[in-house]
Amino acid sequence: MDKLIHGTAANDTIRVVAAVATKTVEEVVTRHELSPTATAALGRTLIGSALLGATQKDFDRLTIKLESDGPIRGIVAEARPNGALRGYVKEPLADLPANGNGKFDVGGAVGNGTFFVIRESGFELGLHNAPYVGSVPIQTGEIGDDLAFYLARSEQIPSAVLLGVLLKNTPPFVAAAGGVLVQMLPGANEHIITMIEDTIAHAPHLTSVIGDGAGPEDLAHLVLGEIEFKKLGERDVRFECTCSQEKAISMIEALGVDDVRSMLEEDKGAAMTCGFCSANFQVSEAELSNILDRLANS
Ligand code: ZN
Repeated sequence: MDKLIHGTAANDTIRVVAAVATKTVEEVVTRHELSPTATAALGRTLIGSALLGATQKDFDRLTIKLESDGPIRGIVAEARPNGALRGYVKEPLADLPANGNGKFDVGGAVGNGTFFVIRESGFELGLHNAPYVGSVPIQTGEIGDDLAFYLARSEQIPSAVLLGVLLKNTPPFVAAAGGVLVQMLPGANEHIITMIEDTIAHAPHLTSVIGDGAGPEDLAHLVLGEIEFKKLGERDVRFECTCSQEKAISMIEALGVDDVRSMLEEDKGAAMTCGFCSANFQVSEAELSNILDRLANS
């Protein structure tokens, strides 16, 4: 099971969140037909949403959304407080050759546009609070840089974000995936910040240490070096969708009598695919008849 931990260092002036998410990204590859570049892009965004979610309280759903003009056109990644993640890219087959550093050209695939963070709360209590929406222009499109820029600009929290997805040529195609978020809280000492920046600059790649079996604690130590880490909590993370046959039926019901009748009479049934997880839902003629009966009686 993938795991995320959070904690502090340097007398609670540094916050660290670290996650290993190899299985989660494997699930993404299994569910969506994604090019390698799209897998890296969506994997990084999902991990970023999990890390960001661990720093926030009182939300039901936290979404990172990119709307952009590159071949991938857009990414949506959603995190829930229980560690469930789901997401998609708009053009799953968009792919680019490796960039000059021999890495996935996620920035090229994303292009220019806007990076959004959307936080929704109150569903469970029926409050329907207006969602919080923050946005910044996409910087490099490499996701980690964009999340760090968002945190500095929009939430005034200087942060370092490392996100990595390493693929291999044989199933299940994901060799390693994970990330670390380091945040400087009020009172953070310049000297400590410089030490951490220096440690990160000289650290091995996240995905190579995850591939060697590192867990989230090891990732926290990787960025903190000699600085002591105080773990405050951990949670499992996984790819999990909230769609269901019942929700597919209620979506069809919301289309109204005319559309449902034409699905029944012309199409002899209905099929829907969930955009978040690619699950297929078949709605039979009998179920469509039931929906029509309910609509007629409402
Ligand atoms: Zn779904």
